[in-house]
Amino acid sequence: MLKHVALVTLLALELSTTAAGQTGRTPTSTAGLETLALRDSQKAEAERALARLGDLSIDTVRERLAKMRPPAYLPGPVLLNEIIKQQRLPVSSSERVERLKAALQPVLAYHQRDGKLPIIVVRSEQPKAYLVARAAIIITTQLMLITGEAELRGIIAHELAHEYLWEERERAFKENDESRLREIELFCDAVAVMTLKEIGDDPAHYARALERLTYIGITAGNATRHESKTHPTLEARVKLNRWLCQQLGRVTHLASE
Ligand SMILES: [Zn+2]
Repeated sequence: MLKHVALVTLLALELSTTAAGQTGRTPTSTAGLETLALRDSQKAEAERALARLGDLSIDTVRERLAKMRPPAYLPGPVLLNEIIKQQRLPVSSSERVERLKAALQPVLAYHQRDGKLPIIVVRSEQPKAYLVARAAIIITTQLMLITGEAELRGIIAHELAHEYLWEERERAFKENDESRLREIELFCDAVAVMTLKEIGDDPAHYARALERLTYIGITAGNATRHESKTHPTLEARVKLNRWLCQQLGRVTHLASE
């Protein structure tokens, strides 16, 4: 109980008017998102993204995600085959791949997708991971090579987070709602941090992976650190991640005192 009170107090964001179910709670923390030194539009996107996760305490986040979680898609062999064919890349199977799949299980379990969402590793020089049709996670061999296991768990948590807002994202694409698309990315980033924290990894791994992947993408000419129609700036994403890690770190520190 004491721990919960500490969590709520420390993590109270100035979101009382926007977060459903939070009305009436006066945030006691002054170290809100305004300390992030971001443009107003970026701050607004970050605030909307975090408001979806309530007061950011472990319990609330679990509860919110449980409510938002769509039923698992559970692809049959025909669809799975179709997805693999679409990638036009050879599937990689080795002991290392199997070890990796095992190392990712805690993330799938946290999001209740263990045994329900196949992970397929394909051979490619491009470091990538993505969710296809809510039915399978694709990871490239290059991504396996350049990330540590905890970093990859963060990346996969981000991809799994897309399931929660899958339809909203499709709508935002149709309506060209760029701000909403960026907000959804920040939501997925926040879920990645919360997931790592929950499964016992250092959540700072996520921002490190994000930075490395972006710089590799810039060199390859297929990524930018600037704001795009679908993604916030790298700076905004990293700052939000560091801020979340800081908040979580303070909670762990105080809660164990
Ligand atoms: Zn994303």
